[in-house]
Amino acid sequence: MTTTSHALAGAMIASLVKRPYLAIPLAFLSHFVCDAIPHFGIGMAFGGPTMFAWLLIDGFLACVFAIFLLKKKVQNPVLLAICGFAAMSPDLAWLYYGLKGNLNNFSAFDPITKFHSTIQWFEHPVGILLEVVWIAVMVTIILKANHENYKDTATSKA
Ligand SMILES: [Zn+2]
Repeated sequence: MTTTSHALAGAMIASLVKRPYLAIPLAFLSHFVCDAIPHFGIGMAFGGPTMFAWLLIDGFLACVFAIFLLKKKVQNPVLLAICGFAAMSPDLAWLYYGLKGNLNNFSAFDPITKFHSTIQWFEHPVGILLEVVWIAVMVTIILKANHENYKDTATSKA
């Protein structure tokens, strides 16, 4: 999945779970669930112009959603950011193996990356449609969870 989709899944988990010791590992694990869902992919060459253009677009989108959530005054923004990072972090392995020139060398991968590589059974440009829906659902849950949090806070203060 895109970094934006992974990061929002992590932020969604943080919004619902709230406890860092539980939310951060769950956000990390969410990466593998998300990658098993059909998602966007265009088979970019490592270090090529398409990869850099895509990283720029995806990074920009992730920042846009982060700013949007901050403007919506979500609770625990630091935990949301940490969980967002934890949720996308397994993809840093691709950077590591790419820089070592081992991106297409399955036998060189560590066990987690082998698993990570195997679960991605459907990566296709059409997957962007599913990611748009995914992002909309994640943002909706985050905003709804925050709305509930505000109600809880208001009730406990009353
Ligand atoms: Zn991944």
